[in-house]
Amino acid sequence: MITLEILLLLAALIGACAFVFMHFLRPWSQIRRDLERLATGNFQLSAVRERPGAYIETTSHIKKISELLQKLDREAADEVLSLKGILSSMVEGILIANRAQRITLVNDALLGFFPTNLSPLGRTVLEFFRRHELQKAVEEALAGRAPQQLEITFEEASPAGTPLKKHFNIHVAFLSPENILQPQAVLMVFQDVTAIRSLEATRREFIGNVSHEFKTPLAIINGYVETLLDGAIDEPEMTDRSLRAIHRNVQRLTLLIEDLLSISQMESRAKLLEIAPINLRDLVNNVLENLEPNISERRAQIEIDWADDAVFAHADSRRMEQVYWNLLSNALRYGDVENLVIRISAWLENGQVVTSFADNGQGIPLEDQAHIFERFYRVRKDRARDAGGTGLGLSIVKNIILAHGGSISVQSTPGHGATFFIRMAQNPQSAINDK
Ligand code: ADP
Repeated sequence: MITLEILLLLAALIGACAFVFMHFLRPWSQIRRDLERLATGNFQLSAVRERPGAYIETTSHIKKISELLQKLDREAADEVLSLKGILSSMVEGILIANRAQRITLVNDALLGFFPTNLSPLGRTVLEFFRRHELQKAVEEALAGRAPQQLEITFEEASPAGTPLKKHFNIHVAFLSPENILQPQAVLMVFQDVTAIRSLEATRREFIGNVSHEFKTPLAIINGYVETLLDGAIDEPEMTDRSLRAIHRNVQRLTLLIEDLLSISQMESRAKLLEIAPINLRDLVNNVLENLEPNISERRAQIEIDWADDAVFAHADSRRMEQVYWNLLSNALRYGDVENLVIRISAWLENGQVVTSFADNGQGIPLEDQAHIFERFYRVRKDRARDAGGTGLGLSIVKNIILAHGGSISVQSTPGHGATFFIRMAQNPQSAINDK
């Protein structure tokens, strides 16, 4: 028989168990689950909350810890995002290598500078760049020395055969976290200075060429003036020869200065162009009229085949006259054959006026064809100078055509003449504005 006391005792026992379960065991399992979440990096506490029971204080601490961790997590994510944004938008190449000189981080710009199928990550600086001076700079930085600055030229294979040279200014500095004195990594910043270096080289070469071109006629003038001063002035024949030579060389210097001025003006591109509708065929006829003495002297035959729809174009007439003058003078100058024939053709092609100037002269060797539009470039130097050229004619032509938004090219089989093609929009204003 179960007495009332026993029933009461059982009820009290069940009540005590329920109390222990509700106040201690259930809240504790909740706390355990929360701690497990935090330990696995999930800083959000579970949504279903038990009543804290006996662990009010502990539960509130866990809540604070979770909030703090969530805040830190958000801040860290923001920092990573900003860092990634900064790194990927930088034009400089960035690289970080650890104490073992192994690359641990690179940005997109660096990968662009040194395209490779193998990832640089995990490789040493020497393995990746194969440059001992760079490795040395990294060693110096890791030894805690002052930041290193060096310029290195890398060669990159190009489909054309001649390797492409890329010049980089590289800054190497050590990185060490706060409170740690010893450098833990190196930061390398790569700045591409190829364009600056090639501009400097062009400028140096240009100044060298200009000085050289001026020196020769000046030396000749000086020589004849000295001869005259030394007494030749009393000999009429010698005086006449000297004055003619001086005159010829002064003319040559004048031509050089005019050509140089033309180039520098044209380099400011379309700004100086006076674009208007013009009759290109009339323009070529004017130039041929002015060149008549040379044409007769060379007994050259001129053939013109100008399509009616390619007669008018919007262009700068003075500049285009200069283009036609230079191309036709060259054809007369270098077309040194018995029966020189110069054929001028023009037609319309996809809204572009194509004009071609063909001669049956000596032509241009293949290896020179890519260079003849460069300033001062001559195929056979002395011959061209004797023929009265400055080496600037085609460079001027190219600049004028580019300023009109057009293009120029040459086709030539050595020994069988040369043909120059000019392609220009019939209304180049639109082409220039697009650039
Ligand atoms: P230049 O004032 O010496 O003629 P250009 O710039 O006009 O200079 O021409 C560059 C070089 O291209 C010339 O020296 C010449 O060797 C070559 N060239 C230009 N036009 C022709 C042509 N029609 N036929 C053969 N060679 C040419």
